[in-house]
Amino acid sequence: MPIDATQPYDPGNIFAKILRGEIPCREVYRDDWALAFHDINPQAPLHILVIPTGPYVSWADFSANASAEEIAGFVRAVGDVARQQGLVEPGYRLLANIGQHGHQEVPHLHVHIFGGRQLGAMLP
Ligand code: 5GP
Repeated sequence: MPIDATQPYDPGNIFAKILRGEIPCREVYRDDWALAFHDINPQAPLHILVIPTGPYVSWADFSANASAEEIAGFVRAVGDVARQQGLVEPGYRLLANIGQHGHQEVPHLHVHIFGGRQLGAMLP
């Protein structure tokens, strides 16, 4: 079920548990600002989720409330993960679902990285 992106941050959400190491993930990257791991249900040969280490429900929350340092660190980390995975050439796709209409299911901001094959045209 999609979430209400205006809800307060729930520290019991599944990605908060992954961040705290309470449940496992296939980690590919971690720094002060971000953690990246393989999606449990991949939609492309490479499907990685990048999450900020801070408690932000969605892109809407993060872009409004995170510090400039957190935003810069997170954006850099997303790019670093793609570089580390060898995706810059031939390319990849970033996606963030936000709230009900965006069909966001986990209430901790995550950017999807899709790659490893020719992706289709981006249609809603
Ligand atoms: P959303 O629809 O919120 O943008 O996407 C949530 C994503 O999280 C989905 O692609 C789903 O497969 C992934 N996901 C949900 N639970 C887990 C989990 O416990 N571990 C991992 N690695 N991915 C998860």
